[in-house]
Amino acid sequence: MPLKPIYFDYNATSPVLPGVYAAMEPYFKERFGNPSSGHAWGLPAKQAMNQGRRQVAGLIGCLPEELVFTSCASESINTVLKSAFWSNPAVHLVMTAIEHPASLECAAWLESQGARISRIGVNRQGVVDPDEVLNACGDEPSFISVMLANNETGAIQPVEEIAVRARERGIPVHTDASQAAGKIAVDIERLGVDYLTIAGHKLYAPKGIGALFVRKGRKLLPLLHGGGQENAMRSGTENVAFIAGLGEACRMASRDLPAEEKRQRQLGTVFLEGLNRLGADYLLHSADTLRLPQTMFIGFKGLRAADILSGLVGYDVAASGGAACHGAETTLSYVLEAMNAPHEYAGGTLRFSWGRLTGLEDVEEVVRRLGLVLESLKPAA
Ligand code: PLP
Repeated sequence: MPLKPIYFDYNATSPVLPGVYAAMEPYFKERFGNPSSGHAWGLPAKQAMNQGRRQVAGLIGCLPEELVFTSCASESINTVLKSAFWSNPAVHLVMTAIEHPASLECAAWLESQGARISRIGVNRQGVVDPDEVLNACGDEPSFISVMLANNETGAIQPVEEIAVRARERGIPVHTDASQAAGKIAVDIERLGVDYLTIAGHKLYAPKGIGALFVRKGRKLLPLLHGGGQENAMRSGTENVAFIAGLGEACRMASRDLPAEEKRQRQLGTVFLEGLNRLGADYLLHSADTLRLPQTMFIGFKGLRAADILSGLVGYDVAASGGAACHGAETTLSYVLEAMNAPHEYAGGTLRFSWGRLTGLEDVEEVVRRLGLVLESLKPAA
């Protein structure tokens, strides 16, 4: 019998839930109107957008008018960071060294345009120290960008503390909540940030939709100029169907979050118990800090991530690697490097991430298949 494929890579992307798809479908069909049109075709599209905006706002506790729909998290992040620089080319951008490439590459480009950037390191748990972030800001005009949860380790960053202290000094703060929204409670007022990025496809909406929270009164210069949609902060005819999908995904996340967070965390416990039963020699990165409920970044001692991954692919399990091989050389992910992860474990690091459609039997089956892979990679006695 063919093996059931098991998707254990939810941090890369998540499936579109059937309810989300159903919410989108009419806007590909009879409700195809342009939300800016004043006639009978425009109105349902406009209403769908308004509803989507309210639903996303409901997930993070902001006002609907504080949201700008974008095409993805990368666009939200690029808009925020470039806006900060274009508003004041003397601004000092302070971020962590473990941000997603959407932030790091954008910052590198801004640096090439003359921006001053500081990248703050993290401790062994993969967590940034708020003191270091705030101290780096100095007395000059600054802008802070710190992700809420890291996509590789799942480690949650002290954004709340950073934002409280930044606010006292009038420093705006952006957080990339792409991996956090929908998985843990994300509340704008508690976090106290000025800008926040959401990625649709990490929370069961389709790829190609994102959102950006911009606190009332905060400035945002657009990347896209044109028809003045989204309060002139993001021109271009809105992706109504995907906005409806993102809204529904956020509504479902708000409704189910406490129960799903608990269930998915329990699956993690089962996964680790399974690894222990296998007798695997592993290191769970960021084990001693707050993490997302459904992410584990695990290093297997003395093994190469690529070998484990290809073994898992052979058993129809999808995960992702934290280290890549180039011939005999192993290149660790920049997150593992920044954490100074022990080399004997780091090279064999994989990211396992699960989600709403993962059942207990899937976790047990991943453990079983992983056991077969690890056995096959044991050096001959
Ligand atoms: N930020 C984080 C933390 C992510 O994990 C990702 C995607 O993996 C992104 C930003 C970029 O998302 P997208 O490729 O949808 O723009």
